[in-house]
Amino acid sequence: MDFDVAVIGGGVGGLAAAVRAAEAGKKVAIVEKDQLGGECINRACIPSKTLIDAVKLLSRTERANWIKKGNDSELSLDYNALNAYKTQIIDRIRLNLQRTLEKYSVTVINGKGEVQHEGEVKVGNKTITTDKMIISTGSVPISIPDFPLNGKNVLDPWSAMNLPYVPPKVIIVGGGVAGVELATLFRAMGKEVTILELMPRLLPVPGLDKDVASTVKSRLEEKGIKIYLQAKSKVTSSDGKVRFHVETPSSTEDVEGDLAVITIGRKAVTDGIDLNSIKVNVDKRGYIITNEKAMTSNPKVYAVGDVTGVPQSATKAWKQGLVAGDNLTGRSSSMPKYMPLSIFADLEIGSVGKSIDDLKAEGVDGKEILVKMEDIPRAWTLNEPHGFFKLIVGKDGKILGAHMVGEGATEVINTISMAMELSSTVNSLYPVTFSHPTVTEVISEAVQRAVAGEMY
Ligand SMILES: Cc1cc2nc3c(=O)[nH]c(=O)nc-3n(C[C@H](O)[C@H](O)[C@H](O)COP(=O)(O)OP(=O)(O)OC[C@H]3O[C@@H](n4cnc5c(N)ncnc54)[C@H](O)[C@@H]3O)c2cc1C
Repeated sequence: MDFDVAVIGGGVGGLAAAVRAAEAGKKVAIVEKDQLGGECINRACIPSKTLIDAVKLLSRTERANWIKKGNDSELSLDYNALNAYKTQIIDRIRLNLQRTLEKYSVTVINGKGEVQHEGEVKVGNKTITTDKMIISTGSVPISIPDFPLNGKNVLDPWSAMNLPYVPPKVIIVGGGVAGVELATLFRAMGKEVTILELMPRLLPVPGLDKDVASTVKSRLEEKGIKIYLQAKSKVTSSDGKVRFHVETPSSTEDVEGDLAVITIGRKAVTDGIDLNSIKVNVDKRGYIITNEKAMTSNPKVYAVGDVTGVPQSATKAWKQGLVAGDNLTGRSSSMPKYMPLSIFADLEIGSVGKSIDDLKAEGVDGKEILVKMEDIPRAWTLNEPHGFFKLIVGKDGKILGAHMVGEGATEVINTISMAMELSSTVNSLYPVTFSHPTVTEVISEAVQRAVAGEMY
């Protein structure tokens, strides 16, 4: 046997699994056909957040009347310099990952891993043997008939983010997480942005509070982004300009732009891996079915990350990788009960657990404690007093969810996630002190309100 564990796919899920298994003393190989870090590090989370943070810094500075801006008062973005900075950050993170793999003596094999038999991975003309296997091959955007990707002006998110020059009019198909983040980015760069969303609301993400979604919609519209909801649309031509036919319940129009970014449609990457022959079950969309220990229907095969279906986030992929690494080395661990969601829009969003509408639909007793960000002193010192935080509390005081829109939401939500995983109630959190002035104080204010009444 060449290895104890062979990991196919070196994205965040595969890397977490490989390192965790190697830390436990196993002999581990990771097979990667492209670049270590996968989608998140090279093409998604890290590059998109680098760009979004940069443009938000610009708009924050523009709003700050107390910063002297010279004669023409104009601040502008050097997109080439920003792209170079983005590449530098990606390289830096990838280097750290490589060093970690070296530290734990993980063997990196470059090439496409193919599997025909349990316990064997073929890479080029070599076959390695392994006791256990982890499939972490991710997912890829697919070209949908109504929105055919053409590599020129109808692009997937990564290709759009990587353009050396973004043209003036951008149409984004899909008002989900990626669509909203890209709209934030392109609008802040001064582009004319339109979002086409099929569902009746922006951010139709399961569990996400509807007021959070409508607040972000209003904010994007205030910034000049045009949003069509319940929009049945299709690309009608892409010669030069991209033209869409768009039907909503109240209108039928043709919408034209220079660039279309298609944020909908992905599929699991399993080509070259004969899942049937290794007795690994998939769901009807082709995603690998796993249990809470990241194990597939074959106890010798684990699967992690996007290839296991929704939620498709690096947050999940990383955790599932750790869980797989733990379980296949004899340390029992399970997937968390709650998976936080962060959306880096303008405003930021953080969400975990159930919304009040979920509770109503399930007939569960509970209440919603609302705190406006204008009640939190730090929001003012940051010049970001917009948005709100909602804490969802069950009859027994148990925290069942939280939803925040406002700057800092992507950080605040992790604290609630921890509280929920520890089965906290508002009474058990009541004695906890948060330092002042911080955005996270919004949690203690909500807890105070639930237990004893308003402080601000
Ligand atoms: C624009 C955008 C922004 C995003 N932002 C966020 C964010 O802020 N936060 C968040 O949590 N998530 C975010 N995501 C989602 C996140 O990028 C993915 O969920 C995450 O990268 C999935 O990780 P993974 O390890 O499952 O797969 P991947 O990262 O896709 O890695 C799979 C790897 O396997 C390799 N591979 C595939 N087949 C083989 C084979 N046969 N042999 C060898 N190698 C193979 C691929 O080359 C790839 O490197 C974003 C996605 C997009 C599109």
